[in-house]
Amino acid sequence: MNQFDWDRGFPLDFDLETGRSEAAQTTKRYLSQMQGMFFDSDAVKEILEKEDPLIYEFYELGYPERPGDLAFGTTILYPGRVGDEYYMTKGHFHTRLETSEVYYTLSGEGYMVMENPEGNTIEIPLKKNEAVYVPRRYAHRTVNTGNQPLVLFFVFDADAGHNYGTIETKGYHKMVVERDGKPVVIDNLKW
Ligand code: MN
Repeated sequence: MNQFDWDRGFPLDFDLETGRSEAAQTTKRYLSQMQGMFFDSDAVKEILEKEDPLIYEFYELGYPERPGDLAFGTTILYPGRVGDEYYMTKGHFHTRLETSEVYYTLSGEGYMVMENPEGNTIEIPLKKNEAVYVPRRYAHRTVNTGNQPLVLFFVFDADAGHNYGTIETKGYHKMVVERDGKPVVIDNLKW
């Protein structure tokens, strides 16, 4: 955290194609860490018998969780499927539910899949060079429906917090699967 001066400002390099930064810290999420999140548990088991693929990684700065600061960084979501279901991030609510977030697609394509505690759902396509606004109160997950890495830049309130609770236990209402070679959004039958 000390290498960035959150009181006097700082510049930071981010590669626009790969989303990588020399200075930022990376966190990696492998399939073994997300086993219960994909619908087809047989497909999960089958893949894990052979390998443990990297699903996504994110670069962040170890930001201070102070009111008024902004946290930012990149997510790199790799292409692939578990059964019919495309690779996706875990997704989360913000602990401070009334906080929003902006994502900008640096490369690749996919969906931002969102839902609020009342069960309302929104899906917005992610396209290179477009920004997506994630409204307050909505959990958000990204899905890679293309065949190259989906690279996103994000900014949110640094003291928003992350809440995975209900998503880890019940999942999302919607899921994005491949049908006849195309992505479609369907109801999650586990709900
Ligand atoms: Mn967020």
